[in-house]
Amino acid sequence: MTLPADFIEQIHTLLDAPEATAFLDALQGDSTVSIRLNRRKVSDMPLPGEPVPWCASGCYLAERPSFTFDPLLHAGGYYVQEASSMFVAWVLRHYVGDAPVRMLDLCAAPGGKSTLACDVLPAGSVLVANEVVRSRAQVLAENLTKWGNPGVVVTHNDPADFASLGALFDVILVDAPCSGEGMFRKDPASAKEWSLESLALCARRQRRILADILPCLKPGGILIYSTCTYNIKEDEENVRWLRDEQGMEIHPVPDVPDEWGITGNLLPGEDFPVYRFLPHRTKGEGFFLALLRKPVDAEEVQEPAGRKAHRKGRGKPDAPVFPKEAAAKAKSWLDDGKEYVWEVKGAFLTALPTAVASLTEHLRPSLRILQAGIPVGEVKGRDLLPQHALAMSTDLHPEAFSRVEVDYDQAIAYLRREAVGLPADAPRGFVLLTWRGLPLGFVKNIGNRANNLYPQEWRIRKQS
Ligand code: SAM
Repeated sequence: MTLPADFIEQIHTLLDAPEATAFLDALQGDSTVSIRLNRRKVSDMPLPGEPVPWCASGCYLAERPSFTFDPLLHAGGYYVQEASSMFVAWVLRHYVGDAPVRMLDLCAAPGGKSTLACDVLPAGSVLVANEVVRSRAQVLAENLTKWGNPGVVVTHNDPADFASLGALFDVILVDAPCSGEGMFRKDPASAKEWSLESLALCARRQRRILADILPCLKPGGILIYSTCTYNIKEDEENVRWLRDEQGMEIHPVPDVPDEWGITGNLLPGEDFPVYRFLPHRTKGEGFFLALLRKPVDAEEVQEPAGRKAHRKGRGKPDAPVFPKEAAAKAKSWLDDGKEYVWEVKGAFLTALPTAVASLTEHLRPSLRILQAGIPVGEVKGRDLLPQHALAMSTDLHPEAFSRVEVDYDQAIAYLRREAVGLPADAPRGFVLLTWRGLPLGFVKNIGNRANNLYPQEWRIRKQS
């Protein structure tokens, strides 16, 4: 890989000569491959590789398999995530207590840190996962649907759209769009797009994003600021700006052992705590993280009066038209020990855990909500169609549907949305296909064939 000359020079100003050489050599080496298991779905599965020290469900793989052709990935059994960024789990575990919280992941697509937050936040918490780029927001919704956590709202907004909401969140993660120096090794093409000008632009954009979102953080709430880049303009200088210009307090992350090789502050004249993952010292790609807290006595931004009025056409619930019997059936498909608020929109029925329902109510007038809670069923003719999100949900009642375990070829055919032959004695109607015991999705078995209900837009298109 050819690295830009200005980038190499920048590294020499950051690190002393032996460190800079070791760093640049490491950038020419292989990138690591790592995954994080979904412990709510694969609770007993042993880690298939060397553990990631800062994240109990993460591990490194010896080589990169063909993830596309692994049914377990599509069933939400694991997520392919860069190891360094799993450090967010360590931070959340140490800073979020046992009480439920509201967390916003502002720059969330494709969903690595959102799925991770789902695993770590206490029960009853709500995660708002937002992405401003539409196509990426769809991928975010897909990945979170597969992960199956019911306490999630997916939004598609610019950070500025949040500013008027008031101080809603206990935790905000800004995993900012950045110059991506930490991804050069994984994606050498990105080095070609790098320049000092684009880096300065990223730093300015990061400050705008942070300034827009800070009013949404509760006094005493925590802000996690992270990037996947090495330069101090986007990293330490922005953290210093948060402290000096935005009144935020910088905090250390406890219990970080030296042997993890995490590097601290590289800004001359400052020693506030930050966490840098440099490839010659830490096993993973480049990552930067700082933890900040809004002072407890910070002035709380109030929701402006009159904001609650619905904006025309934005997410206003339709009048319920759902047939009673269909609603009762849909309700029996979910975990009966939990409380949900049921929402009807046209022919669709969604179950919202109560904490999700109250937050969604508050967000609806201002934000574009792509998904909230569990889309459960759709009335189609005389049928009530279970939604794919229900198959993926960890709240699915285990006995709600007949299950048929499929072999590898059948699983791949299903995920390609091709016909799947079921055994002659397979039950009629909606059947949940499973792979190694994990739900893959629904088919409707009509006897001589089974209609494949896998979402068209998610099907595997790759040939091999
Ligand atoms: N947190 C994600 C994860 O762990 O999978 C990765 C996020 S990526 C580093 C940054 C995200 O910010 C991208 O999805 C990008 O589309 C989004 N983004 C780009 N411009 C933005 C802006 N002006 N405001 C907010 N987000 C932006």
